[in-house]
Amino acid sequence: MTFLSYKDLYNEVMNCYKCALSTKRKNVVFGEGNLKAVIMFVGEGPGEVEDNTGRPFVGRAGQLLDKMIEAIGLKRENVYIANIVKCRPPGNRVPRDDEAETCLPYLRNQVAIIRPKIIVCLGATAVKYIVDRSAKITEIRGNWVEKKGFWIMPTYHPAALLRDPAKKVEAWEDFKKIRQKYEEMVK
Ligand code: URA
Ligand code: SF4
Repeated sequence: MTFLSYKDLYNEVMNCYKCALSTKRKNVVFGEGNLKAVIMFVGEGPGEVEDNTGRPFVGRAGQLLDKMIEAIGLKRENVYIANIVKCRPPGNRVPRDDEAETCLPYLRNQVAIIRPKIIVCLGATAVKYIVDRSAKITEIRGNWVEKKGFWIMPTYHPAALLRDPAKKVEAWEDFKKIRQKYEEMVK
């Protein structure tokens, strides 16, 4: 596996038509943030606001994510934020397997460039494609997975917290673990 530079990767992804999601997108949402980030957050795919703006996690779920990042003493500019698929699935449906698998090499290339210590999987889709194709979010959330030298934390998607605020208690436990690991990693 050979990887592209950030600039070359960006140019390739911004002009990608490899899967069917290319046909209905308004903008490709490449991902953004600090290229030296210790923590990378990975969601599912762009929603409507993201599709309109070309930026990840800027709608309602994104605003909640920003608050959670700030609650552990970090800022959005400190971290890197990306998605499993870079183009919006119509109506915000879950990406199909072939779409996710086609897009995944781009995320792997982003990870190879940034080399975060910690990868936070936001929701079932990120967990599925980053941790294990058969992992269940309800079973593994809150538990560190060590894989290929990365510390991976599966947790709820912020949109799930908006739908069911009772889940925020567990999400906060997960974010405290992320803060703790972050402190260990930067020491
Ligand atoms: N939900 C996601 O999974 N990703 C985004 O970028 C926005 C909302
Ligand atoms: Fe390409 Fe990914 Fe967009 Fe599909 S979702 S067109 S693979 S960038």
